[in-house]
Amino acid sequence: MSALLPPWLLPLWQQVTRDLARLPHALLLEGPAGSGKRQFAEQLARRLLCVSPGGDGFACGACAACNWFAAGNHPDMHRMVPASAALAEQEEGEDGEGSESSAKDGKKASDQIVIDQVRQMQSLLEVGGHQGGRRVVLIDPAEAMNVPTANALLKSLEEPPGDAVFLLVSHSPRRLLPTIRSRCQSWSFPRPERAVAQQWLAAQRVSDAEALLGFSGGLPLAAAAIASGPLADARKRFMRDMQGLSRGDPLKLAGEWEAWLKSKAALEAGLTLTVLVSWLQRWAYDASRVAQGAAPRFFSDAAAELATLTKGGFDVWSSCYNELAGYRRVSQHPLNARLFLEDMLLRTTRAMTTK
Ligand SMILES: [Zn+2]
Repeated sequence: MSALLPPWLLPLWQQVTRDLARLPHALLLEGPAGSGKRQFAEQLARRLLCVSPGGDGFACGACAACNWFAAGNHPDMHRMVPASAALAEQEEGEDGEGSESSAKDGKKASDQIVIDQVRQMQSLLEVGGHQGGRRVVLIDPAEAMNVPTANALLKSLEEPPGDAVFLLVSHSPRRLLPTIRSRCQSWSFPRPERAVAQQWLAAQRVSDAEALLGFSGGLPLAAAAIASGPLADARKRFMRDMQGLSRGDPLKLAGEWEAWLKSKAALEAGLTLTVLVSWLQRWAYDASRVAQGAAPRFFSDAAAELATLTKGGFDVWSSCYNELAGYRRVSQHPLNARLFLEDMLLRTTRAMTTK
């Protein structure tokens, strides 16, 4: 039963499901990406809609409601996600073949949750439930709502239909309107203890578990997602390239990375310029740690290489880290990606070769 949720989420699960009759009508599940709040929200929605939940507190997985839920067409389950996320999921399901997606019409799918989605949900809620039980509205990620959308949602949160439960999932709750936050009960999803995380990753047979756990900032679900997807290879390539950089040519590498970012592999892995800058920042952070005699946090599997790069000492790497933060801020819209990469890699090479 506990396989439905990782072990560190079970205490909260038990607390929540003990008395579902008194569940608040609006919940904000907040925590870093990869902390398990999305899985938790799915299980809770499933549980709220199930007509014969098991004694373990989870949905039965066998009733008509559970089958509809699994097939993605439960009439009382309303999902509000950005069009771009819905599209990505759809293409994954179809294996990318023959899908007539709006992205291919040259129109980019929105990264925001738009007001029409709220209005549609509200008119469905007005009609009343199909199954005579609860209705669930899942908003994920809640910070993808723009201001008009959030204001429209407020009306539902203020006067919710009695049988509706709103589940808002957020990686950055500070970006939500205070009026939205104040109408929700917040549950936070912290990082599990290291030992618990390691044990869980071992049980999932995740390769490079230790290194990836560090790389993911101690979030085991994020580590497992990297390990089983294309980002694991991207991370290996990044490390290889960084190892070559101190002896190599930053301008050549900039050209290679520019091509890499445009490749199908990078698109599939979600590898963007911003992601690359954040990795470079982690590399610089680790180098500053190693320069002080501490162990690297994000690239524990590159400790030996990092140790050869720290002749310049802590100050050189910490100022490099700070400058990379500046690069990161503009990385979503660089004027010229190639120049941006060249500039950034020249800056990093300078820190590597400072004696
Ligand atoms: Zn069921």
